[in-house]
Amino acid sequence: MKDSMANTSQLSLLKQKLHTARVALDSINEDRNDKLKILLQFIGHLSLACKGQNLELDNKLAKLRHHFTNFETVEESLPELVEVEQLLKQQYNHVMVQLEDSRASLSRVIRQIQRVQSVPDKVKKEINYFKKDLTKPFHTFWDYIPKIEKLVGFYESILEEQLAQGDKFVVLPKHRQLAHELAQMISEIEFRKDQRDRIFALKEELSNDIEVDSLIEAYQTVLSLLLDNIARDKSASQEFLFALNDALSAVREVVSDSYNDNQRSFQLKKQLNREINTCVDNVGEAIIDIDDIHSLKSRVTEQLASIRAALGRKEALEEREQALLRKSMEAMRKELSSLSKEANTFKERLFEQQKLNLLDTLTQLPNRAALEERMELEFRNYQRHKQPLWVAVADIDHFKTINDSFGHSTGDKTLQVIAMALKNSLRDTEFVARYGGEEFVLIIPDVNATDIAQLLNRVREKVKSIPFKFKNQRITVTVSIGAAQIINNELINETFDRADAALYRAKHESRDRVIIDV
Ligand code: GH3
Ligand code: MG
Ligand code: MG
Repeated sequence: MKDSMANTSQLSLLKQKLHTARVALDSINEDRNDKLKILLQFIGHLSLACKGQNLELDNKLAKLRHHFTNFETVEESLPELVEVEQLLKQQYNHVMVQLEDSRASLSRVIRQIQRVQSVPDKVKKEINYFKKDLTKPFHTFWDYIPKIEKLVGFYESILEEQLAQGDKFVVLPKHRQLAHELAQMISEIEFRKDQRDRIFALKEELSNDIEVDSLIEAYQTVLSLLLDNIARDKSASQEFLFALNDALSAVREVVSDSYNDNQRSFQLKKQLNREINTCVDNVGEAIIDIDDIHSLKSRVTEQLASIRAALGRKEALEEREQALLRKSMEAMRKELSSLSKEANTFKERLFEQQKLNLLDTLTQLPNRAALEERMELEFRNYQRHKQPLWVAVADIDHFKTINDSFGHSTGDKTLQVIAMALKNSLRDTEFVARYGGEEFVLIIPDVNATDIAQLLNRVREKVKSIPFKFKNQRITVTVSIGAAQIINNELINETFDRADAALYRAKHESRDRVIIDV
């Protein structure tokens, strides 16, 4: 009995324990299910976050989310999890490759931007930092978006800069050539003293890198200075013509005055002559008619007094006439002398102008117009006397390098020194002109074919021996020369062309040499 009671109480104890264990298990299950639900929900949300990258993956994840809504169907989705996992791995690799591609293409764009010239310095620095930053790998697409924003920012700054520059034109080689030609042209024109500073500044500006706008302004300035000069010259000529006109009208007045005076004196003289003649006639008649010697005497005396008075009046008249004539002569002489003074200054100015028109302002050598005059003259001489006549063309070697290395004004000085050397190496009967740029033309008469090479080589050596020193650097400048002798039935321009072709050959055969066309 005792045993059965003990068994019963043990059983109930066990039952109770079992119950407690069941309750605990239920609570654990409930707890686990809650956590699982949260986990499934989380997976559901996570899968939503992946949406939009890959359609197949999206479909599979949607199905998975559907299965995950209740526990009964979770089991069914387990086989599909393997596939989804596979797809996720592939997608991850794909994303990594894409991120790397995006980074590389951003680097390419940045390199392109760096080639844009007009990027402001500040932006250039930022671009450099950005480029360095781009060497680090991207981890997510979120890394990519701020970079794109930054890039757009760079483009914006560049656009802003370009818009701020407004309608600035790009400077092309053609513009540089125009600037150079304008600089050369204004070197050949003689401007007034008060215009020279402006012209000098303009030349400086033209020899540096010039904007298209400034080039147009430079053309405008030169044009207005030239127009001003033309207007002044015109008014100077007009002044002269007015002076001439004044002088001529003064002379006309004097002439017509003296003509009128003459007419009046002529009438008066005629009257006086008539009076004298009447007196003489009266005396004659009295001699015939009057017998009484006393009466005759008093009558003759009376007539003689009349004659004397008339003669006195005539003499006074003639004296007045003389005085008037002297006065008008004096007036005319004065007018003429002032007119001739005016004409002389005008002539001098014309002469100066003519001389200036024939001189190259930079080198003070005769210019191209003077060369043409001289060639015509020498050609006429040649046709008359058939003495030898040579045309030589000299061109400075690699002159552009001097400009490029030491600047345009050093180039200008070099041209002046070489021009002087050329002039000094020739005789008075020989002639040298600046043909243009760094080219000179020599006209040499009366030299034999055997002597010309020696003469021209002396000229070449003379230039070569000039001790130029630029920026403390000893520089030797050389010239190449081509020459030709005029031959029968040839125009001097044809001789020039042969000399030029010989120069071309000299340039091709190493330069610093003389080639005579034969
Ligand atoms: P090459 O030996 O073939 O003659 O070479 P180069 O450099 O002398 O000849 P190129 O024709 O290429 O260049 C001539 C240069 O002369 C170009 C131009 O800038 C310069 N020049 C022409 N006129 C003037 C001038 O009045 N002043 C200055 N400073 N330079 C000038
Ligand atoms: Mg040349
Ligand atoms: Mg040259």
